[in-house]
Amino acid sequence: MRKKIVAGNWKMNTTLAEGVGLAKDVNEALKHVTPKCDVVIAVPFTHLASIAAVIDSSKLGLGAENCADHVKGAYTGEVSAPMVASTGATYVILGHSERRQYYGETSETLKVKVGLALENALTPIFCIGEVLEERENGTYLDVVKKQIEEALFDLSAEDFGKIILAYEPVWAIGTGKTATDDQAEEMHAFIRSVIAKKYGDQVADDCSILYGGSCKPSNAAQLFAKPNVDGGLIGGASLEAESFMGIVNAF
Ligand code: PEP
Repeated sequence: MRKKIVAGNWKMNTTLAEGVGLAKDVNEALKHVTPKCDVVIAVPFTHLASIAAVIDSSKLGLGAENCADHVKGAYTGEVSAPMVASTGATYVILGHSERRQYYGETSETLKVKVGLALENALTPIFCIGEVLEERENGTYLDVVKKQIEEALFDLSAEDFGKIILAYEPVWAIGTGKTATDDQAEEMHAFIRSVIAKKYGDQVADDCSILYGGSCKPSNAAQLFAKPNVDGGLIGGASLEAESFMGIVNAF
């Protein structure tokens, strides 16, 4: 069964004390509601173990924002999938456009990271999305198809079934410019058709496809009402418990 999910991506924000405070606030808010979706926060590596210790993991999932493409060794500054898993985290964002754009992550690297995440029982939240130029020149569907095919289509159907996808048009991330619900639905339905062609209707139907890009309490309900939009990956609006919960409660 396809899951509805709202996941926060804190990016490089909050000190440890601020982050633990924010996680506690979200955790507390979740005690008073029964959300109609799974709720996850993806936080800086430095915060993972401390946050794992203060949240109720049955109500709030915890993830990293990246992991290394190696298991261990002489890779100064990197954090591996087993290290992430050892903190108690169970999710990892992979392929975020900021990682692709600023740190040169390619489909080849991401394929390795996805494999290591799965080997370490981490659920990848795998990001895909086109830049503005590709939206405007009409190649956006092909671009996203290629991102999925290159990084994920060597997986078995069983492993593919463990992945959460997040469609994040790069032109909508942190810009205040949200894709319309129809633009999101067009892409999500297309992604599902691409998955169906490769893995069959059941795998496609079961795959959660989140929307990300300036999603906020005021536009979440409209986006989430679309049949192929299964929730959101939330950047800026996840940095305050109230706005994040406003999105969680949009379901
Ligand atoms: C993101 O970076 O994953 C994101 C969706 O950011 P924002 O919500 O701030 O656009």
